[in-house]
Amino acid sequence: MTSWDGMHITVAGLGVSGVSAARALAGLGASVTVVDGGDSEALRERAASLEGIDVRLGDAETLPEGTELVVTSPGWKPTSPLFAAAAEAGVDVVGDVEIAWRLRGPDAPPWLAVTGTNGKTTTTQMLASILRAAGLRTMAVGNIGTPIIDIVLGEERYDVLAVELSSYQLHWAPSLRAHSAAVLNLAPDHLDWHGSMEAYARDKGRIYEGNRVACVYNVDATDKPSTEDLVREADVEEGCRAIGFTLGTPGPSQLGVVEGILVDRAFVENRQKNAQELAEVSDVNPPAPHNIANALAAAALARAFGVPAKAVRDGLRAFRPDAHRIEHVADIDGVAYVDDSKATNTHAAEASLAAYESIVWIAGGLAKGATFDELVTRSAKRLRGVVLIGADRALIREALARHAPEVPLVDLDRTDTGAMLAAVREARALSKQGDTVLLAPACASMDMFVNYNKRGDAFADAVRELASEDG
Ligand code: ADP
Repeated sequence: MTSWDGMHITVAGLGVSGVSAARALAGLGASVTVVDGGDSEALRERAASLEGIDVRLGDAETLPEGTELVVTSPGWKPTSPLFAAAAEAGVDVVGDVEIAWRLRGPDAPPWLAVTGTNGKTTTTQMLASILRAAGLRTMAVGNIGTPIIDIVLGEERYDVLAVELSSYQLHWAPSLRAHSAAVLNLAPDHLDWHGSMEAYARDKGRIYEGNRVACVYNVDATDKPSTEDLVREADVEEGCRAIGFTLGTPGPSQLGVVEGILVDRAFVENRQKNAQELAEVSDVNPPAPHNIANALAAAALARAFGVPAKAVRDGLRAFRPDAHRIEHVADIDGVAYVDDSKATNTHAAEASLAAYESIVWIAGGLAKGATFDELVTRSAKRLRGVVLIGADRALIREALARHAPEVPLVDLDRTDTGAMLAAVREARALSKQGDTVLLAPACASMDMFVNYNKRGDAFADAVRELASEDG
C-alpha cells in the first residue's frame, strides 16, 4: 500500500486528468505541485480553482524540490525534460491509471481492459453494454469520459469495470494487473510519441501483464508483432488462458463467425458439443467486419468474466456507437452518406472502406507521418471516386496516382471549413445510385477543424444542406 499522506507529488499537466489526480492526491494528504508549460488565462483560472495545491505555470521542465513521485498526463512525451530530471533524481513517473490502480480499495471491482490501435472506445462500450445486460453494475472508463481516479474514489459501487487504455496510459501504468485484457489490433500510430513500432507494441502488450483469467488476441491480425506475440511475451498468472477472436471459423479457445453467427468455443465445457451461439452478425451495430471483430473481443472478455451467452446478444443489441463512427447521416437519391470522421489514421480508414462495396471517398487532413500506399492498394477496387481536402492531401493524391490512376479524383485545394460542403457536393456528383459517400479521412482534423467531432458535424451539415436543396 502506498502511503500518500505527506508525500511530495508533482503532477505534470493541468488538463482534465491532471486536475483529477491533483485533487485526489491532495485529498489524501499529499503535498501536490502541478507544473504546466502553458500560462494562459484559462490555465490561471483553473489553477485558482485548485485550493491548497501549488500550481507552477510557464515551466514544464524544472522538477520541484523534494518531489518523490511524478504523475504525468497522457500527452507528455517520455522524452520530456521533466522526466529526465525525475530519472536523474531517482523519482518514478506514473500516469493516472497507475494512480487509480493503487488507490483501489480492498473490495474494488476487477478490471476488464481493452487496448488496440483502433476500436478501443467502441469495444469498451460494447463490453459495458454486455455486462449491463447480464445485470452487473459496471461503467466504461479509462480513456473515456470521467477520469478513472474519480471513478475509483467515487461513491458508486461497481461489480466490474470496462477499462479503455491508450498506449500512453499503459506506458505509465507498471503495476496494473487486469482480470482479463484484449489487444484488438496493432498498426503504426503515435510512433512519434513512443519512438518506434517495437516500443509502441511493448506498451500495448503491458495490458496482458499479470492477467488472471484471459488474454484476448486477434487471430486475423497480419501486422508484426501480432497481438498473439504480445500474449506469448507477457508474464501472466497461472491458469490464465489465451483466447483468440477471428472473423472466420474459430479453432479451439477462439471465438469466431460461422454462417453469420458469432460463436464461442472457448468456454464450451463439453468439447463434443458444437460451438455455442452468442449473437447474430445483424445484432452488431454497424455490422461492418471490423466492428464484428470488436464485438467478438468484447464477448470474449465478458465470457471470461462468466457472463452468459444470452447477455452477449442482449448487450450487443442494446449498444449504440458513439457519434462519428460509421454514422449513417442520410440517403440522397439512393446514395448513403456515412460519417466516419473518427477514422483518423490509415488503419481505421481501411476498416471502414472495407465495409462498403462502391464508395466515393472523402479523405485528407493531417497525415501525422503516415504513408498511404497500402491503404490505397487494398481499397482501390471499392472506389468509385475520391475527393481530397486538407493540408496533406498531396500524399494521398500521389498514392492514388501510383495505385489507382483510373479512379476519378477531385483534389480540392482547400483547407477552410467551407471546404467540406464543396467536398460533399463533388462527392455527390461522382456518385451513382447504390454507392456510399464515405468520410473516412485517414488523417487528423486539426488543419481544418478543432477536432474530429467538428469535422464530422461539418460533413453532416453539408449532407443535410444538399438534401434540403432537393426538397
Ligand atoms: P479508438 O477508441 O481506438 O480510437 P473507436 O472505437 O473510437 O477507436 O473507433 C475509431 C475508428 O476506428 C472508427 O471510426 C473506425 O473507423 C475504426 N475502427 C473501429 N474499430 C476498428 C477495428 N477493430 N479495426 C480497425 N479500425 C477500427
